[in-house]
Formats: sequence, C-alpha cells, structure tokens
Amino acid sequence: MIGYVGVVSAAGLVLFAVSVATWIPQLSSAPAVYWVFAAFLVLTELVRVDLPRKNDVGETNISTTFTFAILIVLGGPAAIVTQGVASLAADLVHRKPDWKIGFNVAQLSLSTFAAAFVLDRVAGLPDHSLAFTADQMPGILLAAAVFMVTNVTLLGVGLALDQGQPIVRYVWDDLIMEFWASGALLLISPIVVAATRLGVFLTPLISIPLLSVYMQGRLAARTMRQALFDALTNLPNRVLFERRVHEALEEARADRIPVAVMLIDLDRFKEVNETLGHRRGDDVLKEVGQRLARAVGEDCVARWGGDEFAVVLAGDDRAATPVDIAHEVLKAFEPSLALEELPVHVSGSIGIARFPEDGDNEETLMQHADIAMYVAKESHSRVAVYEPNFGRSSPMQLAMVAELRRALESTDELFLQYQPKVRIDSGEVVSAEALIRWRHPSLGLIQPDSFIPLAERTGQIRQLTAWVLEAALAQCAAWQREGLRVGVAVNLSTRNLLEPNLVADVEAALARHRVEGGRLTLEVTESSMMTDPTIAMNVLNGLRDKGVHVAVDDFGTGYSSLSYLKQLPVSEIKIDKSFVMAMARDDSDLNIVRSILDLGHNLGLPIVAEGVADEATFTTLRSMSCDIAQGYHLSPPLDALDFKRWLSTRRTQPTKPNAKVARIRSV
Ligand code: C2E
Ligand code: CA
Ligand code: CA
Repeated sequence: MIGYVGVVSAAGLVLFAVSVATWIPQLSSAPAVYWVFAAFLVLTELVRVDLPRKNDVGETNISTTFTFAILIVLGGPAAIVTQGVASLAADLVHRKPDWKIGFNVAQLSLSTFAAAFVLDRVAGLPDHSLAFTADQMPGILLAAAVFMVTNVTLLGVGLALDQGQPIVRYVWDDLIMEFWASGALLLISPIVVAATRLGVFLTPLISIPLLSVYMQGRLAARTMRQALFDALTNLPNRVLFERRVHEALEEARADRIPVAVMLIDLDRFKEVNETLGHRRGDDVLKEVGQRLARAVGEDCVARWGGDEFAVVLAGDDRAATPVDIAHEVLKAFEPSLALEELPVHVSGSIGIARFPEDGDNEETLMQHADIAMYVAKESHSRVAVYEPNFGRSSPMQLAMVAELRRALESTDELFLQYQPKVRIDSGEVVSAEALIRWRHPSLGLIQPDSFIPLAERTGQIRQLTAWVLEAALAQCAAWQREGLRVGVAVNLSTRNLLEPNLVADVEAALARHRVEGGRLTLEVTESSMMTDPTIAMNVLNGLRDKGVHVAVDDFGTGYSSLSYLKQLPVSEIKIDKSFVMAMARDDSDLNIVRSILDLGHNLGLPIVAEGVADEATFTTLRSMSCDIAQGYHLSPPLDALDFKRWLSTRRTQPTKPNAKVARIRSV
C-alpha cells in the first residue's frame, strides 16, 4: 500500500511539475473563459459531496465538470495545473494528511493527462477552442470515460490494498457507482463549453443542474448510511459487518490467514437503561462504541444490536491473539464514564470464534461467538473462546439455546415437579426433590435430560438453577404456611458448585422466602464434587454453616475416594438409580447397593435409594436397613397440586407406600 502510494504520487507530481512549467508562461494570455472556469473549479472543489462507495461512504466533488471543460478548451497542462491547485487548496482547508494531499494531486494529474492524450489523439482537438463539432463528440466521450476509469482505478487500487480486499472486484464496484456521480458530471462539461460559446454569463446557470447532482449524491449517501450504519453509534451495523466478515473470510481462504470474530455483550446494561433512563443508556452505548473503535480500530467494529457489539480481526498479528485483544477491549471499558456528573461503570463479556477452527462462514462464526459469549457471561470468565463442547449441538439445539433464554427470562413455560423422599421405617415424607420440566409452546413437554446438558454447556445453568431454587423455596414456604413439614431438594450442576456466589445466593434465597437452611437439600453429583475438590470443599462447608443439607447424588457412578468422602461435609448419600433398579434381578447390583449401605452407615450418613420402582425392591431395601426411598413405587414426580393431594392421602396410611399410586403405575 505504501509502495503503491509512493509510485503513483511520484509519477503524478512529476507530471504536475511539468504542467506547471508549461502552463504558467501562458497564464498572462489566458482567455476570460479560463478564469471563469478556474474560479468555478476552485469553488466547487471546496464543496465535497458524499458518495456511496462499496461498504462505505466516500466523497467526490463536482469540480470535475470544470476540470474537463478546461481540458476541452485549453488543453492538458492548463487542466492539470488548475485542478492540482484547487485540490491542494481544498485539502489544506479540510486538513487532509500530507501524503493524501500529494496523492490526490498526483491522481488527478494522471487522470487528466490520460484524458488529454485521448482528446488530442482520438477526438482530434489539438488546437483546443470553444468550438468542437459533432464528429468530435465520440472522442470527447471516450476521453471522459478514460478520465473516470483512470481516476477510479488509481484510488480504488490504493483503497483495496489498504483494506485488504480483492482489487479487481473493488475497483469494478467503485466504477459502477462512480459512473452515476462523476460520470454524469463529466458529461456536463461539453455542454458547459457549448453554452460558454454564447457568452460566459451562461456558465453560472450550469450550477443549477450541478447542484441537483450534488443533492442526489448526498441523498444516495445518506440512504446508504442508513442501510449500513447504526444511527446511534455511527458504527457499521450488522449487515455491513457480516459483509465485511464475508470478505475477510474469502481472502483468508485464499491466503490461509486466520480470522477471528468477537461478540461483546455489555453486562447489566438493562439496569443502566432502567435506572438511568434510555437517553443515558444511549449515551453509554455511544461512548462504549467509541472506546471500542479506539481500542481495536474503527474499520473492524460494528454495533451488532442492542447492547451487543462485534469485532472482526483478520491477519496473523491480530487474529492470532484474540484473547489478548479481548482483554484490551475490557480494559478500555474500565474507566467509569461520566454521564452528567454521574459515574457509570460498564463491563462486558466477550465470546470469540475463530476461522477456520470454529466455523468457515460468517453465520456459523457469529453463532459460535454468541455461544462463547454466553458461556463467558454465565461463567463470569468475561472472555471465552468457542469450544465444540459448548455447542456440540444440532441447529435445533442452537435454536433451543435462544428459546431457553426466553423461557428463563419471561414466560411460565418452566415448572417443577416434586418427587417425595420417604423414610422406609416410619413412612414419613422427609422432603421432595424438585425436578424441572419445560412446557415448550410448539415442542410440547421437554424432559430435563434434553435441556439441562445444553444449559450446562452454554452457561445458562446458572440462571436455571437460580430459577429452580427460587420456585422450590417458594413452594416449600407455602407448604410451611399450610403446616406441612416437608423439605425440598434442588439439583446442582458442576458449574453451579464452582460459582463464587453460590453460598451467598442460596442464603439470600432462603432469607427471601423465610425458609430455614435445614429445610433445603442441595443434590450434588459425586463427579461434580471431584471436578475441583478444593472449591467444592469450601462451598460445601459454607452451605453446612447455613444449615443446608448436601446430598451426594448418583452415588456409585463416579470415582470418589472413600477417604475423601469422609472429609466432605455431606448429609446424605443417594445410591444411583441404575443399581437400585437392577438389584432385584442382578446380584452384582444388589451387592453394590449393600456395600454402599455399609459404607454410608459406617460414615454415619443416611442413605437414600432412588429409582425404587417396585414392592420387591422396597422390601429388600427395608431388610438391608436402607434409610430413605424415592421412586415410582412411592410416587412419580408430581405437580405441586398433585403432590399435596398425595401427601394428604398418605396421612391416613403413614407406614405403607402409596397403594393407589403404586397400582396406577403397575396397570
Ligand atoms: P436425578 O437427579 O437423578 O433425578 C432423578 C431422576 O430419576 C428423575 O428424572 C426422576 O423422574 C427419575 N426417577 C425417579 N424415580 C424413578 C423410578 O422409579 N424409575 C425411573 N426409571 N426413574 C425414576 P428426571 O426428572 O427426568 O430428571 C433427570 C435428571 O435431570 C435428574 O436426575 C437431574 O440430574 C436432572 N435434573 C432435573 N431437574 C433438575 C434441576 O432442576 N437442576 C439440575 N441441575 N438438574 C436437574
Ligand atoms: Ca437428584
Ligand atoms: Ca440421581
């Protein structure tokens, strides 16, 4: 790019210097028409017209008409010098960088020279006067075309090199657009010349159609801005961003360079909006957009929508270290922003997806960046790079991520069922395990096994567990008010156990519902506890201090060492249902159940057998002094209302499992 600008500038400026040497001596004898055209040229050069360019808005000016008019009437050197001086003056006024000023003069000199050559040789206008004839018109038109093509090509190649885009396509797209703007301006030149033949007083009249061209250009540019840029932040919008990513990928495929996309979501922006008002919310978005553009460069950021921003990084130096860049972005957000004296703190979560590892088109990449962003947000890691296991998901599951998000936020599609845990010796119902269900508007009832793993992968499990805890404690409080002394059990996922706020969140929820810690059991699987034993130990100790019980769920399926189990502050062990369900038929399962019972009792822990599905299993467990049973034989999971009914029927026959339910099950 720098080399290209250098070569074009050098060639063009030499040409300009030669033209100055040729034209200046003739200046004193220049006709009045020259001065009129020159004045208009300088004047119009100062007025820049926005011009829609590919993926951008560029600018042009209507001075081209007068450059070309001078070229027709007075020849190449006069046109080159006058145009050059006008361009120089305007660029200085508009404070363009030095290299750009030089390049512009050079570019225009070269284009004018090319057109002058065609006028002399093809149109046969070597003597240059106001008079030209009909048979010279095709040559004049050809010269105009050459001027436009040279001009667009010289600039387009530079821009394409700068933006790293395919040159031929870039120039071609620009040519088509420029045709309607500067092409039209050039065609007015012969008319200006012809009119001037009647008298220079006609020249100002031509400014009116020119003005209309100017207005049209502005309108087109504005329409294009609206379609491709976000009105609030002035950043590219989603449409333009996707187009840019598409182009970056096309090039990356050819040149085997990495590309990374980033999706940035502001944390708790909704709160800002709600507490400070939408106007301040808008100010926050504007400021964040500016900080982002400063941090990573203006041409690679976009407003993705709402409080989400997107970034595309291309090339070895940038795309290879997206995580570092993501942290730089978060750093740029750190200084609190002052909104009318009110300091507002913003932070964000960033998801990253890379080409080619995480997807080979813009759609997949953005989808994966979205999943990674969600993981970053939910896990509080702030930055996450997409991993296939985040979304080892079919398109349907991906759709479900969004659906679940919606269900968690606003609807009453999620609900809990309760399955009782019953003391085998006394028949007392100690508690009920809360099990989540999702009544999806079009897919019907979805069982937890179909969406819990998804929620775990995307990090939505945090919100989901909070929802379950809230609903289960509300239910427990309701039972309490009705005089029913039943506790609730809530399942935790591995990720929940690793959350730094878990203990505090549980404590707050208990306080909100005025439920004692002792009424709540959290069921944690054996393998979750082993993921990070130190953290698990801290969390479990914290829970115990609040009086909350912890059950080791699915016991027997993991690898926990017995000595470790002894150290953990757990209050019950649940034998996994796979052993319990098979123990009536399979001796080895029966032996496993027996040894878990021995182990638990040696540790002084009550043992729950889950998946107790028939009378025979129930009786065997009783003979082995198992403490608590849970399973279809006693009751399937029930809606809150059915659960209460079930409880009241049990009151009358406390020591036996529910005969009615058992019968219904076996029919
Ligand atoms: P889990 O914690 O082992 O829950 C017990 C599962 O066994 C429940 O399935 C229950 O309906 C089923 N079950 C109970 N008794 C019997 C029986 O006699 N026979 C048979 N065949 N099954 C029985 P469900 O409700 O489909 O839940 C499946 C799993 O989904 C749960 O396994 C738990 O890991 C997870 N889950 C359910 N709700 C939640 C929740 O709110 N949070 C989390 N993190 N996980 C949940
Ligand atoms: Ca459980
Ligand atoms: Ca279980």
